[in-house]
Amino acid sequence: MNDGCDRPGDQLIPYQEAVARLLQQAQPLTETLTLPVTEALGQVLAEDVQSSINVPPADNSAMDGYAVRSSDLSSANQLTVSQRIPAGSMGEPLQAGTAARIFTGAVIPDGADAVVMQEQIERAGDLITINASVQPGQNIRRAGEDIEQGAVILEQGCRIRAQEMGLAASIGYGELTLRRPLKVGIFLTGDELVEPGQQLAPGLIYDSNRYTLNGLLKSLGCDIIDLGIVGDTLEQTTDALKQAAAKADLIISCGGVSVGEEDHVRIALEQLGELFMWKLNIKPGKPLAFGSIDGTAFLGLPGNPVSVFATYCLFVSPFIKKMQGRSNLSAPVLQVRADFDWPRPDRRKEFVRARLHVDDTNNPSATIYPNQGSGVLTSTSWADGF
Ligand code: AMP
Ligand code: MG
Repeated sequence: MNDGCDRPGDQLIPYQEAVARLLQQAQPLTETLTLPVTEALGQVLAEDVQSSINVPPADNSAMDGYAVRSSDLSSANQLTVSQRIPAGSMGEPLQAGTAARIFTGAVIPDGADAVVMQEQIERAGDLITINASVQPGQNIRRAGEDIEQGAVILEQGCRIRAQEMGLAASIGYGELTLRRPLKVGIFLTGDELVEPGQQLAPGLIYDSNRYTLNGLLKSLGCDIIDLGIVGDTLEQTTDALKQAAAKADLIISCGGVSVGEEDHVRIALEQLGELFMWKLNIKPGKPLAFGSIDGTAFLGLPGNPVSVFATYCLFVSPFIKKMQGRSNLSAPVLQVRADFDWPRPDRRKEFVRARLHVDDTNNPSATIYPNQGSGVLTSTSWADGF
């Protein structure tokens, strides 16, 4: 029976130590899969991507205008238009004393070394008059100026965003080799929980954690195995943990991880597997539990909606990123002026929900949401960070 007292050895673990201990035990997935670039969004690259081509592949025009030999223009300012080169077709070598009508993206013909913007010429029939000085190389995009043949453009461990999808396509990659998505089993504990869309009976509340977690996990590219709401009994909790352990790479639960009689998660975990870490010196999120069941990692988050969001950002996110083989695990940290007082410091390290401002002189500062209660989910939507 749970008596609500801390057991010996249950000292609160400092934040940095907890992160380090978690990350030390996070095992990166090794399996890979190949997906079309269009399906790679949010996934993690398993191999370096190297370019077999120059981008652009050839010198080409940056403007609609006329390709010329700049040396022709040292003595005269009139040239005869000898050819027309739209993007996608190849011109003929440019003869001395002539110019090629050329369009943005079209390959510069041999012999030409500059492009004059169409706005800077006057044309009469096939004769153009150039009213500007012309420098060799002007308005020409050089072969390989974006990417040189042989260059590694994306390194394994990078997360694919829209930019990387375009970049991979720009060197002709139609598919990418990725780490297979992490399968995360989630469940919510609490007899008081009702799913949105149903009637609220007295004493019940809507389950919000499932939805917060859904969004957070999807934005990290995880596949979610949703075991739904689990009642506050040891049997149901044990059952949910067993089911999740059989299917998932990582299990996340919400609620029931504290020391009340209705909190069964830690005990169920200790019966089925191992508890590595419990109770952190942070606020919100103190009762976070970390363990494993048959080799499947387990993170038991507290039930308070703000604690779920905070512990996810602080611990679950870097843990998942490490399992995904990502090279960058940490969130950005900014040092800014505090536009608030904090008259009631806690002995725990506090993660208050804050919003960034930039004043008239471009100096950033942070304000905090007035109600920092761990049930006040509004603060997480309002804030830019902790
Ligand atoms: P617990 O950690 O189970 O003691 O829950 C702490 C608080 O969070 C209680 O007020 C619960 O009602 C609330 N809570 C637990 N799970 C959820 C959930 N899925 N959605 C919204 N609130 C929850
Ligand atoms: Mg509960």
